[in-house]
Amino acid sequence: MRKPKKILIVGGGTAGWMAANMLVARWGDVQVSLLESSDIGIVGVGEGSTPHLKLFFDSIGVKESEWMPRCNATYKNGIYFSEWSHVPGYNSYFHPFPAQVDELTVPSFFHNIKARMQGIEAPAHPDNYFLESYLTRHNLGPLAAESFPFSVLYGYHFDSGLLGEFLAERAVAKGLHRINGTVTEVLLDEDGAVGSLRLDDDSLVEADFFVDCSGARSLLLQDALKVSFKSYRENLFNDSAVVIPTTIPDVVTPATRSTALSNGWAWQIPLTNRYGNGYVFSSDYIMPDRAEQELREHLGLLDSDVEARHLRMSIGRVDKHWAKNCLAVGLSQGFIEPLEATALALCYETIKHFLDHFEKGQFSNQYEKAFNQVINNKFEGIRDYIVAHYKANQRTDTQYWRDNAANTQLPDRLKAILYLWTHSKNFAEEMEAQKLGVSYQAKSWACLLAGYGIFPALQDAPAKAQPDVEQGMDEITDFIRRCGLNFQNHNQLLAQL
Ligand SMILES: Cc1cc2nc3c(=O)[nH]c(=O)nc-3n(C[C@H](O)[C@H](O)[C@H](O)COP(=O)(O)OP(=O)(O)OC[C@H]3O[C@@H](n4cnc5c(N)ncnc54)[C@H](O)[C@@H]3O)c2cc1C
Repeated sequence: MRKPKKILIVGGGTAGWMAANMLVARWGDVQVSLLESSDIGIVGVGEGSTPHLKLFFDSIGVKESEWMPRCNATYKNGIYFSEWSHVPGYNSYFHPFPAQVDELTVPSFFHNIKARMQGIEAPAHPDNYFLESYLTRHNLGPLAAESFPFSVLYGYHFDSGLLGEFLAERAVAKGLHRINGTVTEVLLDEDGAVGSLRLDDDSLVEADFFVDCSGARSLLLQDALKVSFKSYRENLFNDSAVVIPTTIPDVVTPATRSTALSNGWAWQIPLTNRYGNGYVFSSDYIMPDRAEQELREHLGLLDSDVEARHLRMSIGRVDKHWAKNCLAVGLSQGFIEPLEATALALCYETIKHFLDHFEKGQFSNQYEKAFNQVINNKFEGIRDYIVAHYKANQRTDTQYWRDNAANTQLPDRLKAILYLWTHSKNFAEEMEAQKLGVSYQAKSWACLLAGYGIFPALQDAPAKAQPDVEQGMDEITDFIRRCGLNFQNHNQLLAQL
């Protein structure tokens, strides 16, 4: 029960460097080292974030003007989902990050959803109700004028290789010891905890505590400590990705676009110097070379010889993220496919909660179990929301989309949410009452389900809108437009950085 004197992080991908910066910032009196192998590369994709990346940079005291230009970063107001639904009028919607002013317009959104659920014609498409949808349509960044008294959450797009370099430089400047070498053996002590690591030059590296950021290999946690892995394959079919960069136009949109293709979906992520593009697919339904061809067609690159990169993904999570004297962060603890760009959010949450739980237990394993439950719940909360995209898809053109829609292997919480959507009198209130909004609030769920047009058929006889409508659509549109006057053009914001 004493604070570790030496902590060794194994792995210098984004997860390793995030852990390094947070550890150095929190425990300046501990010797933190990071071991990476120049013979084994990093994944190096992963260019979109949630608002957690801002929390991370705030927690280590780094300003946007310091890191964003170095990483070709742009702002992100949310994600467009296109072609996931073929319901007329619902073939695209925008999932915005939360803004405080949404609280003033969301009641009308829910009101109109309720009407639409009763077969009454009502404007229930999410794009009309959220500030950040408006900002994105008008190419405005998410930083409000100082006089605007409401908070707006936002994420970023960035070059993950450059982000790693920036974070590495910063951690080393703060006193982190950087080691190059390849682990060939993990030696356990008599209690079965990690004792030391043997490197390829036969040297031994010791520490009191280890952070496994070795990527999907999970050298310490899964390989050496034999912590088991829970696959999400029955709910999430995708296991592969192919990645191709393209040039970017002058106007840089502050949003990711996710477009459904024949057997998965393609991301388009705007950086200051290029688009990152990739096709996430299931190799059970389409061969990688055919997927690459389809992505090239989608990007208009059939005649181009720009190289594509293929990756495999293992979807799921470990049963315990912290076991004995080892914490796993990043791909070593699991991965949920990148549809909502949540991987770095989970890295941040894992490190933050670990630091809190370890300190609270005075550097013992007292809160190991509680911590693991917290992180498992976060993984499952995100998984449920991502599975919902596939279950709710409104396409019938390929076996892949039909099988996803027909999938009955659903997590219980997701089943409960889908049931509420079609059966409850008040979706938002019921979500709240049953505490189902883990990781995503009721308004995000409503965006997804309304965005795909999951509504009953309209009644034959046109009915009037319910009498208790709080605001008319014109009023809402004008309110959001006036809020929008407090925001600046995205390109200008980037130029100011
Ligand atoms: C297709 C795809 C798209 C993604 N999109 C997103 C996204 O939009 N947003 C997001 O947040 N995340 C995304 N991710 C996830 C993101 O890429 C990872 O979470 C992130 O890169 C962290 O990876 P990592 O640091 O855990 O592992 P890695 O990058 O694999 O790093 C592993 C490190 O361990 C070291 N190592 C391995 N073995 C040894 C050894 N034997 N000895 C010494 N060192 C060793 C390596 O040298 C390396 O430094 C995506 C992932 C994929 C596959």
